[in-house]
Amino acid sequence: MHSGITGLVDMVYNNSSATVLILDNSTTGMTGHQDNPTTGKTLKGNKAPVLNLVELCKAIGVKNVCVVDPFEQEDVEKVLYEQTQADCLSVIIASRPCELLDKKRPRVAYIVDPMSCIQCELCLEMGCPAISKVNGEIVINDNLCADCGLCLELCRVNAIKKRRIFYYENSKYINCGGWWTRDALD
Ligand code: SF4
Ligand code: SF4
Repeated sequence: MHSGITGLVDMVYNNSSATVLILDNSTTGMTGHQDNPTTGKTLKGNKAPVLNLVELCKAIGVKNVCVVDPFEQEDVEKVLYEQTQADCLSVIIASRPCELLDKKRPRVAYIVDPMSCIQCELCLEMGCPAISKVNGEIVINDNLCADCGLCLELCRVNAIKKRRIFYYENSKYINCGGWWTRDALD
């Protein structure tokens, strides 16, 4: 909802052929989780009518509007391919709430098994800030990981393992034992 609607109106009006992606994460991630017209709450937390992105796109004249779950990777790939091949204007709405919205859900920490990792760097290409390469090894920073689980699905050789589970208690996360430790992998 950051003034993208103006450009979309112009694209419809000028009969453009393009595919526009709307990343709907049920919040305003860029500036700190403020509510916006798609969340159903005002900035003061009061109830407000929810803006329906599909209906909005259709109302301004976009004929092809698709909604995908960004975690359903095969579906996303298929829809992206179809819509970018079509000679018309389309909108794809990738809809899934931000993983950080529910601060109290138990979280899992992950580790990369260096013996299984084939260094394909597919996980690095995702752009997750928690994943990096340090001294030639892929590592996951617990403090930056939001426990979305996407890297786990992406790694074709299952080199990424669940390590520990954390529960939220008294306003902080408590480490409740581990399934994997770095020592166990070494
Ligand atoms: S996707 Fe898996 S195998 Fe490839 S670099 Fe990442 S952890 Fe290693
Ligand atoms: S679980 Fe999600 S946030 Fe955590 S390292 Fe993997 S992709 Fe990044």
